[in-house]
This record gives sequence, structure tokens and C-alpha cells, in this order.
Amino acid sequence: MQLPKQMDALVLKGVRDFAIESIQVPVPDDDEVICKVDTIFICGTDPHIIAGDFPDFWPTAFPFVPGHEWSGTVVETGKKAYNLGWNEGDRVCGISHCGCGYCEMCIKGRYNICLNYGHEERGHRQYGHYTPGAYAQFMRTSVKSIFKIPDSMPLEYAACVDPLSIALYTVKRSKMQPGDDVLILGTGPQGLMAILCAKALGAGRIFAAGSGDRLKKAGELGALIIDYHKEDVLEKVKELTNGRGVPAVLECAGTEKSITQACLAAAKGGVVSVVGIPHSNPSLPIKRMVLDEVELVGNRANPNTAKATIELLTNNRIDLKSLMTHRFSLKEFGKALDIFEKRQDGAIKVAIKPNGF
Ligand SMILES: [Zn+2]
Ligand SMILES: [Zn+2]
Repeated sequence: MQLPKQMDALVLKGVRDFAIESIQVPVPDDDEVICKVDTIFICGTDPHIIAGDFPDFWPTAFPFVPGHEWSGTVVETGKKAYNLGWNEGDRVCGISHCGCGYCEMCIKGRYNICLNYGHEERGHRQYGHYTPGAYAQFMRTSVKSIFKIPDSMPLEYAACVDPLSIALYTVKRSKMQPGDDVLILGTGPQGLMAILCAKALGAGRIFAAGSGDRLKKAGELGALIIDYHKEDVLEKVKELTNGRGVPAVLECAGTEKSITQACLAAAKGGVVSVVGIPHSNPSLPIKRMVLDEVELVGNRANPNTAKATIELLTNNRIDLKSLMTHRFSLKEFGKALDIFEKRQDGAIKVAIKPNGF
């Protein structure tokens, strides 16, 4: 396919300084493809990247194109990518991490904690974080970071594979067993998707702590809701579990208080699976955790869970429909970001369509 020379992209020029600009359409390396982007969702991390909350890290330099929850169609393939079975017309979804492929961690399949993180010259990438991302008409990506999706799956659903596979990883790492009680702290998009994944994996009762419209949504998805403005989350969990706590706690809020609460709400032998990133270090009830053998696991992104997520979506084990609340063109990004950040009109997953609707 003959690609245009220029494309529209969201260009971040500094802290909170962005515009839709015309930039060059990228050219693929050997193991890369160029995709025509269908949908990108605004991730909870994006406003932080735009606000400069991760200086010299996400991104490392300006100008920068963010965006990492995306789907699209392959329109050009590098030679090796073609030899590996990628073709024009393939419908794909992307994830942000791309390990170097050679280090000890990558060899073990733990490419999300690649030892060469941040070293592009050694082949590492993280799209939309420090490597150019998908808020553009075309996206250049290594084939290590894309997955084919079946014809039956709408591209808009496919763009949710990145965050949904993070939720799946968070549930799996909690070692939740079928029938187990689960507590989910935080009912933002990540917490709501954790409810969907816990259900798909056979959770018993799902308790969700949050507030506002999003907590209401958690209830609609089948969780027993706890409003942390009105109730003491810990007391409520103890009351509901005869004082035992829950075997699997999914921490999706990332506040100091919530992580500490998670460690206290876990049952003896329970696991606290943390995906929220706190901005400071919480003090943890270590004595309790040692004596009751409470495990705490950190989760970074979605290593090796995208494929399973695609299967869960394809086979209708998870229905994302009620989480997809808004759609905007790329030119309307500023408005879309505002609605997402202020949680207006029940905003949960807000889609951007850089090539139109
Ligand atoms: Zn994300
Ligand atoms: Zn590596």
C-alpha cells in the first residue's frame, strides 16, 4: 500500500503543552510494521505523562507522541516481520512493552521487566511511554508488541486488550481460586476491568471499594460495593467474611491508604496483588503480614496475557460494552482528555479515532 508522507499526530511539546500536528509517517525497521490506527483509548497514565509527572522518564524527551492502548490494521511490513508471518491487512492490537528479547528476563518471558529497559539502542521499547505511541494516524511497532485478532472482534474492543490484559495479569498473580472471595480496591477503569477478569476466572463474591458513578458501575458488573466515603472498608470486609478477610486482594487505586488497607484486608495466607502505582511509599503492616503469611506482589503491565485476553473477549467471557463510554476524533483530543480527567458524563474508557469513525 502506498502510504502518505505526512500524518496527523498528537504531539506533546512540553508539560501540558500539546497540539495536533502534521508529522512524517514512520518507516518500519526489519522486525516492525506500520499500522493504520483505528482506535486508541485514553489510559489513566496518559494524563500523568501529559502533566509531566514522570520527568525525564515518560517521556525522556520532547516532542513526543503518547498513546499505547490501540488497535489497527497492518499497512506495511519490514522484511523480517513479513518472514515472521505478518501481512498487510492483518487486524491487530498493541501492548506498550517491547523487551530487548536477549536479556535474562526476556529469555524467561518476563519482558515487562527487561534488563535493558529504556535502552532503545539495545532494542528495548515502551510505546507511548518513551517510544513514540499511537495517538497518530499511523503507528510504527515491533511485531513483538502486537497480536492478531479474529475478524469477529471489533477493532474498538481490540484497543482494550492492553489494559484488560493488565487486569487479567493482576487477577492471575493474586492466585485467586474458583469460588474465592475477592476484594478490589479502586473502581477506576483498571478496577472495573479487574472485576470482569475475576468473574471470567470464576471468583466467588467480588467486593469492590470505590466511590461515585464508577462504584455504581462496579455494582452493575456484579460486585458487592463498598463506598469508602461512607463506610470503613476494612470493617465492612471483616463483617462480610466473619472476620477472616479475603484470600485475594486486587489493589487498583495506588494510594498509600489503599495499599495499607489491602494488606490488612487479606485473609491469613492471602495475596495482595498491586497494580496501582503509589506516588510515595506506604507504611505496611509487615508484622501482620509475616505472622499471617500475607504475600504482596507487584504487577507491571501485561506479560504474556494478551493472547488469553483476546480469547476471553472472542468467546464472550468478558463484555466490555458498558465500559466504553465516549469516542472522539484526534482533533478533539483536548476535549476528550478533559472529559476523561474530570470523569464527566460517566466517562470510563474514552476512545480516540485518528482516522475517523
Ligand atoms: Zn495503559
Ligand atoms: Zn530484555
